[in-house]
Amino acid sequence: MSISKNLRSIKSSIPENVTLVAVSKTKPVSDLMEAYNAGQRIFGENKIQEMVEKHEQMPKDIQWHMIGHVQRNKVKYMAEFVNLIHGVDSFKLLKEINKQAKKHDRIINCLLQIKIADEESKFGMSADEASTLLQSDEFSELKNIHVVGLMGMATFTSNMKQVKNEFDYLRSTSEKLKTLNPNLLTISMGMSGDYQLAIECGSTMIRVGSSIFGARNYTN
Ligand SMILES: *Cc1c(COP(=O)(O)O)cnc(C)c1O
Repeated sequence: MSISKNLRSIKSSIPENVTLVAVSKTKPVSDLMEAYNAGQRIFGENKIQEMVEKHEQMPKDIQWHMIGHVQRNKVKYMAEFVNLIHGVDSFKLLKEINKQAKKHDRIINCLLQIKIADEESKFGMSADEASTLLQSDEFSELKNIHVVGLMGMATFTSNMKQVKNEFDYLRSTSEKLKTLNPNLLTISMGMSGDYQLAIECGSTMIRVGSSIFGARNYTN
């Protein structure tokens, strides 16, 4: 299967209001260009340096999403161009994003990452922490960020009932937090193995890598 065929088949199987982020981490620019030439404009990367390099080499109408864990000292490298940061898991990080966005006279869109998985290795804040953050005075002072929704990663398991519970939890957390902040319209959840389920559970943004670009090879 080619990248453009994969993209077309995924696009045709998802509702129009669901945004497809093509997760291109570890893949060469030639693969990304194939997706670009098939019409894809939103790409997701999980390493800042790799995203910066690809941004430099590729057309400028691409929207770059940072989907991985973000180290505060690296925010400055992407602040000039990043379109959406999915993995915001602390106020400190949000503050640094605000500071770097201000330097470029930009407003950077962010999602709060909520820990929905039953795994120690996954990042994210609790629903209560997110609620406290959104109501704090310190938060209201950050003028160069927009928090536009939530992101979650389900447990890596073949138990789809568990995955559904975790997606349902993110959806209900989103409904609750929306009463505090009506801008939280995005729910980023669902990857290659579970995006159909995620959409049934209310996802508005899916992050799909291997189903578009093929399996990743981490050994090189
Ligand atoms: C790699 C990655 C994805 C995409 O995973 P696939 O299973 O290849 O679709 C989605 N979200 C995050 C945060 C990722 O790191």
